[in-house]
Amino acid sequence: MIEADKILAKMKNQKINYDRVLRKMISQWQRDGERPRILLHSCCAPCSTYTLEFLTQYADIAIYFANPNIHPKNEYLRRAKVQEQFVKDFNSKTNSNVEYIEAEYKPHEFMKMAKEKGLTDEPEGGLRCSACFEMRLEIVAQAAVEYGYDYFGSAITLSPKKNAQLINELGMDVQNIYNVKYLPSDFKKNKGYERSIEMCKDYHIFRQCYCGCVFAAMRQGIDFKQINKEAKAFLQQF
Ligand code: SF4
Ligand code: SF4
Repeated sequence: MIEADKILAKMKNQKINYDRVLRKMISQWQRDGERPRILLHSCCAPCSTYTLEFLTQYADIAIYFANPNIHPKNEYLRRAKVQEQFVKDFNSKTNSNVEYIEAEYKPHEFMKMAKEKGLTDEPEGGLRCSACFEMRLEIVAQAAVEYGYDYFGSAITLSPKKNAQLINELGMDVQNIYNVKYLPSDFKKNKGYERSIEMCKDYHIFRQCYCGCVFAAMRQGIDFKQINKEAKAFLQQF
């Protein structure tokens, strides 16, 4: 099955359009009559909406909810539940067979990483985010190897607030460490982000009001008491 490296080698000296790289890979799968199995990271439902609508045309997907960065625990549980529910609703509405897999929640590992690397005071979009993306991509790559997927990737290149170039560069590095291919993407392109907003409305999806970690949330003035209260109330429905 094709590796992104082969396409990237032909695009030297160009600003890389990772959506184009993905589409070239899809064309190759189609020429070869392949339907790969992809383990796709996501950190709550919004980024997975259009991403699943697009990718399920060409591949079998499992969403991997692996997010040690999310604080507090009740908010983590709420986002995981919203993600799981969206996968169920998407499957029944579109007759798809997307799987939902949740990694063990290990927030201490994210905190340890941020503290040891001296990243706690970084602004959102800075070096802590880069380390956070890398950490989560590594967790997904390891799981993809363990469960035998053809590719690992991330739905969060759909978000205009996330640096898709950086996420793709990190993904390409991570694939060199683990024995599994990275799936490049920039799902926000071709009106992917706009479509995700429509889908969030259609599926009544909750949108979080902060990225996830305690450090960025504190800078943003997030009221954790309120977040805990809302998340607990949400979780009581289940
Ligand atoms: S990047 Fe933001 S909107 Fe997208 S899945 Fe993660 S938390 Fe949700
Ligand atoms: S702001 Fe978001 S991406 Fe950046 S470190 Fe925090 S949780 Fe991770």
